[in-house]
Amino acid sequence: MRVFPDPILRQRARKVTQFDAKLAQLAADMAETMNAHHGVGLAANQVGVLQRMFVVKMEDWEEALVLVNPEIMRREGLRDVEEGCLSLPGYRGMVSRSERIRVRYQDLTGKQQRLRAECMLAQAIEHETDHLNGILYIDHLVAHDQLFRIHVNEDGDVEYLPTGEPDAAELESAAQRMNSRNVLPQFDPSSGRTATRQTDDATVAD
Ligand code: ZN
Repeated sequence: MRVFPDPILRQRARKVTQFDAKLAQLAADMAETMNAHHGVGLAANQVGVLQRMFVVKMEDWEEALVLVNPEIMRREGLRDVEEGCLSLPGYRGMVSRSERIRVRYQDLTGKQQRLRAECMLAQAIEHETDHLNGILYIDHLVAHDQLFRIHVNEDGDVEYLPTGEPDAAELESAAQRMNSRNVLPQFDPSSGRTATRQTDDATVAD
């Protein structure tokens, strides 16, 4: 699983032209990866492949749906929804998504298909189509402070952590920096080197 800030998540995937056994295998592998991570969708960029295809699977579906070269033809209505991404673990954010969409795509045999989707499925298709264009949900949060840090426990329950509040490890390293601030790296223009020197603070601190 490719995780942010992996640059492949910011690249535009290329149109699929070969509808062969290799493509079918990639789709099967992606569906397996998505299921293992309890995701509702997974785009090829997220497994390091720059091909325009993704898989989606709603909770009550038996099998994943594979959409190749998808194009959203129509969007209707807007709603604010909470969203997460397998490539941005530990976060969720509020984004604005369409209520209903119409999408055109090809199946694994290359045959043109059309689909009308609403609610969660429309949201997943918009999210995954964004991935194929190098766009992530954090690019269109409804407001800058609408990104939440989360922790998912073993039962799959989501706990919201206070955003911006440093955790214990961060506080610890900040405290260490404070304690050693009398030793600062100094740039020496004559030698062009950086050396560590004691500053006057050392005496004051004593
Ligand atoms: Zn995602």
